[in-house]
Amino acid sequence: MDKRPFFITTAIAYANGAPHVGHAFEFLLADAIARYKRLEGNDVYFITGMDEHGQKIEQKAKEQGLAVQSFVDGYAEEFKSLDRELGISYDFFVRTSDMEKHYKGAQALWKKIAEKGDLEKRSYKALYCVGCEEFKTEKDLDAEGRCPLHLKVPEVVEEENYFFKLSQYTEIIKDKILTDEVKIYPQSRKNEILALLERGLEDVSFSRPTTKVAWGIPVPGDDSQVMYVWCDALANYITAIGYGTDTFREDLWSNATHVIGKDILRFHAAIWPGMLLSAGLALPKNIIVHGHITSGGQKMSKTLGNSIDPKDVIELFKPVAGELAGEAARFVLLHEVPSFNDGDITLDSIKSAYTGHLVNGLGNLTSRIMKLCEVHKDKLTALPFEFNDNYPHEGDIWESFTDFDPNQALHLVMDYTKLLDETIQKDEAFKVIKQDEARGLELINEHKKRLMMIATMLYPFIPKTSQIILDCIRENKMPEKPLFARLP
Ligand SMILES: [Zn+2]
Repeated sequence: MDKRPFFITTAIAYANGAPHVGHAFEFLLADAIARYKRLEGNDVYFITGMDEHGQKIEQKAKEQGLAVQSFVDGYAEEFKSLDRELGISYDFFVRTSDMEKHYKGAQALWKKIAEKGDLEKRSYKALYCVGCEEFKTEKDLDAEGRCPLHLKVPEVVEEENYFFKLSQYTEIIKDKILTDEVKIYPQSRKNEILALLERGLEDVSFSRPTTKVAWGIPVPGDDSQVMYVWCDALANYITAIGYGTDTFREDLWSNATHVIGKDILRFHAAIWPGMLLSAGLALPKNIIVHGHITSGGQKMSKTLGNSIDPKDVIELFKPVAGELAGEAARFVLLHEVPSFNDGDITLDSIKSAYTGHLVNGLGNLTSRIMKLCEVHKDKLTALPFEFNDNYPHEGDIWESFTDFDPNQALHLVMDYTKLLDETIQKDEAFKVIKQDEARGLELINEHKKRLMMIATMLYPFIPKTSQIILDCIRENKMPEKPLFARLP
């Protein structure tokens, strides 16, 4: 087993809107993996955060009459509050507006790339969609020459930019991905990026003039330019662990795992590796790419009224699950959305997953087994059990985590739960114990042991619930109230 500390990151969220369910899912995916790795005995360092620069943010803040910093501060608080409610166990929250740690680190990275001779100032004439904050080429546009996403004709921008000479790194990046030195999950996303690399990478615009964008990190040695997103946002993964300002945690960086959405695969598997190669830094070890979440088969949107706000999901569960409402939200998202493919959730599917698996499934099972344990507690043998050491190695379940597939692991745990439910119905320990006490106690002990395994295996997904069940098992007592009450 690799005993280096395990470093895991989410993408940093763009600070121009409240967190949506896709963000929540990504945080949970990374959190489940981080918790699994800790359970396995690894040191884990887990970071998440906000991407707070760029023209779109500057414009939105202006529209709302806010100073840009207070505009982004507001969203940072919203994200942190969602993380708290969901129990996201991050160690550090990166903010790209952090002038000490992040600015200095990003500038150090810039200088390194410049020293290598990989930056070049060029006059640049291109189409730019402010909505996307991206340069567009003709082939990106619809028949009327508009951005298909924003239905607006992009601005023609003519400006001086620094360019990063990415194209020269095409072959070496391709090789690293082909040989899994940078391993991309799932295979279909690996194939996708390899196809793109096959076509060759183009040099990328690396800065914007301050006359167009003022809100950004100044380019070292050139007051007329601020960094474009690449050297700013992507650099967060290393500035957060000391690059350019403190002792750089190379032990972490050499064992990095990025969790990202499919829309930013090219940034992480092509541009970012190019920058790292230029700066002489290690490449990320794993890139886990999840899909998008639709609702009722359609993209979530305010106009369609099918948007699902993660905070609303937590609120829905508060009256029935109390302090475990965040856990119920964790469960339904991790259970209903596949780790890699696109997923679909509706309010109905959320409610039925809760009722089927937590109320009727795990909650009911815990009450039934622990009731018998409580009644017969004086006669039961004590289980020697320490939470973090003696966990069961249920091969297939933990193996799903080796493939970074928490959704599959959770499905296997719930199959195990269903199986135990069938076993206790068939065994009828409550009857057996009246006729044959020794055999009855043996059955109860066996059921308790299996419940303990399930509770342990649920730790990466619903850690508080897992703790509560394990506490009940240690003390041979029923939960004080049903863990998950029925939705009205
Ligand atoms: Zn656009």
